[in-house]
Amino acid sequence: MDCIFCEIVAGNIPARKVYEDDHFLAFLDIRPLNLGHTLVIPKKHYRWVWDLPMGDEPDNIGQYYKVVAKVAKALKKVFDIEQVKSVVLGDEVPHAHIWLIPAFENDGHGGAINFKKVKKIDEKEMEWVASKLNEELINK
Ligand SMILES: [Zn+2]
Repeated sequence: MDCIFCEIVAGNIPARKVYEDDHFLAFLDIRPLNLGHTLVIPKKHYRWVWDLPMGDEPDNIGQYYKVVAKVAKALKKVFDIEQVKSVVLGDEVPHAHIWLIPAFENDGHGGAINFKKVKKIDEKEMEWVASKLNEELINK
């Protein structure tokens, strides 16, 4: 296996998980564009977001987006913000993933997302966000 996200799902590579169920996982991006930048992925390896099934499968695209929405709402609540940007590209890691990026005033992105603006965020802040999101997302 050489897919880094499959390794995270398998527990072979550590990640700051903020949500997990039988089919989906959300964790903080290690190269955050803002504090709280979260990746939501299906546990099964799909190359692209649009490869997820459309039928009654438990990991269908509708279920995926429900999890994405759940995490986005938790981010809004934790930071008390209006907007969480979402991005579907898929080039960086060949395993389906959706980015959720909290938008803050004067966050250096100029009202959009500047993909070069990777933030240096200290471990304590990352831990704080992960634990706040965990509180919001566990049993909800
Ligand atoms: Zn994978």
